[in-house]
Amino acid sequence: MNNDKLEIRIYNDPVLREKARPVAVVTPRHVEIARQMAEMMYGSRGVGLAANQVGLTERIIVVDVEWHKREEDNTNPGRQPIFMVNPEVTEESDTDDVASEGCLSLPGIEGDVWRPASIRYRYTDLEGRPVEAAAEGLKARCIQHEIDHLNGVLFIDRMEPAERKKLAGQLAKLRQSGPVRV
Ligand SMILES: [Zn+2]
Repeated sequence: MNNDKLEIRIYNDPVLREKARPVAVVTPRHVEIARQMAEMMYGSRGVGLAANQVGLTERIIVVDVEWHKREEDNTNPGRQPIFMVNPEVTEESDTDDVASEGCLSLPGIEGDVWRPASIRYRYTDLEGRPVEAAAEGLKARCIQHEIDHLNGVLFIDRMEPAERKKLAGQLAKLRQSGPVRV
């Protein structure tokens, strides 16, 4: 990787609509990308980030949904990022759940999204080991949101059309705002 500093891409950036490609072998470069992504996620006070959001079309996400809480509780270490390479949902619950979502690439935008309440998923960790796990609640939601990013899908795509319509003005403004430096 060259020394270009990664930055968070905003709604008008076409890379957010690209499908990221699988990582064949995890290399030190991927580890470095993941480390930088975590820094940017924490710096922006987010709970998840996908590679598309920093302009890279490789299937890498970072998730840490409880770090705010750990920070408040003074639990050490406050930051426990989970890095996932080639993450995939393998099973979805029949029950859906609704909650308001936001996104570092859509600053100021929030909206209700229905998603499967719990999932089983698999990924490769930064040591190249396969991992299988289950998640529910916010963690399940966040993993699904980040995997969507790797497929070029944004949470607004999953909102009820009537609800999304209400955001049209805000989205138009974002589209014109150009890159935001974080
Ligand atoms: Zn997002």
